[in-house]
Amino acid sequence: MGIRSKCLRDGQMLVVEVSGFLCKPCNKFSSSKEESDMHLRSYTHYKTFSKLVKAKAQIEKGKERDDMTKNGEEGEDEGEDGNTEEQLNESDKL
Ligand SMILES: [Zn+2]
Repeated sequence: MGIRSKCLRDGQMLVVEVSGFLCKPCNKFSSSKEESDMHLRSYTHYKTFSKLVKAKAQIEKGKERDDMTKNGEEGEDEGEDGNTEEQLNESDKL
């Protein structure tokens, strides 16, 4: 069965030995804990981290704004209905 040996042989190319630390937001890979700690103290990480915090805060604010916008849209719809009622009232007068 060639496919089994082929699978095993090609598998060697597909598997990569990885051991280390990856700072996900920075996409910074460190092969040792020391290197990782150094990265955490670096300005690069600080910059990325502060961006992340700001972005998260903005997303949370945006969610609140979305809710308010939705409420506002509902209010606008009510306003349109009110205008229609006013028009009806005017036509009743006439
Ligand atoms: Zn980082």
